[in-house]
Formats: sequence, C-alpha cells, structure tokens
Amino acid sequence: MAFAVKTHVLFQDDKPVAQRKTPNMGGALVRPSLLVMHFTASQRAAGAISWLCNTAAKASAQIVIDVDGTVTQLMPLNRVAWHAGLSKWKGKSGCNSFSIGIEMANPGLLRRLGNDKFADSYGHSVPAAQVTTINGRHWALYPKAQQDAATGVAQAIIAAYPTIREIVGHSDIAPGRKIDPGDAWPMESFRSKVFGRK
Ligand SMILES: [Zn+2]
Repeated sequence: MAFAVKTHVLFQDDKPVAQRKTPNMGGALVRPSLLVMHFTASQRAAGAISWLCNTAAKASAQIVIDVDGTVTQLMPLNRVAWHAGLSKWKGKSGCNSFSIGIEMANPGLLRRLGNDKFADSYGHSVPAAQVTTINGRHWALYPKAQQDAATGVAQAIIAAYPTIREIVGHSDIAPGRKIDPGDAWPMESFRSKVFGRK
C-alpha cells in the first residue's frame, strides 16, 4: 500500500483515495504541527462518513479509515477540519487550527453482556474474537489492515507536511472529555512506525 499526498489530495497506488465532500470545514490550515487520531464510535466507516458530511454534525475530519483499510478523504488536507472540539496541546488551545484529524472506524468502549458477548454503544454485538480487555475495560481491536493503512496515511501526510512533529490521540488534547482512540490503539508502536524510530 503506497500512499502519497499531491496538492493536498491523498493518493493510494497513484490514484486518489475515495473522495467525499463535507461542508464542515474552516479556512486554510497553515503549518499544521499535530496529527490527531480518533475513533468513530461505530463499527464501520460508512455511517460516520455520511454523518461527517452532514451540515447538522458540525464535525468532520480530513481522513476516515475503515476496518478493512479503505481510506476516504473528506476535504483537502490544507483545510481546517472540525475534529478536536474544545481542546488544548502544549498550552495552545483550539487544536483544529494546527492539526490534521484521522478518524478510524472503531466502536470504542464496549459493554460486556455475558461470557463471550459484547455490545457497542448502539447495542450492536461485537464478536469476542475482536475484543480486548485492558484494565477491566473492553475495547474493540483495530484490525491489522486498518493499522497498516493508518501507518501509510500518516507517513504520507508527515512527508507532505513536515511541520507535523507529533501524533496524539483525541483523549490527549481533550482529557476528561474524550477517550478516543482508546486503549486498543497501539499508539507507541504507531508513532515509532510512522516516524521510523527503532
Ligand atoms: Zn475524537
């Protein structure tokens, strides 16, 4: 999977990734310094993409990645997306104005219904094989295809916008208010892979 950014459009294997248009965006994104990882709180990307393209949502992200690794772009990468909300990083508030947001399809925190039964916040079941339990909380795993796509996308974005020096989760910039991308997201190894650290 070879990703690259050309004139603010994300390409995969020399073709633009799926493009959808959202009205939910601000002006020019100038010298972004941060990449922010999110989950959609849904099992698949399609519903989240429709919602993020709806004016009523007043929310968006530049990129959405489905569980199978399918990547969708909702706006040019040099436009401000509305993904962070009330947020702060290293003393600077309003992170939308200096970050790019990636949404990953993932239902997030799950409820345990029975021995091998789990449900997302909509009450839809999640197979036990796709669940990990960390510190007594149940989370849906991020499949390898999705992790690989996220790594390739993040590498391409950082190559195109080298002012981006850090990757954080939504929960890092809105602690107490947001829990995504959650404990199932392997943030440390993701950062290492993206930045090419040993
Ligand atoms: Zn989020």
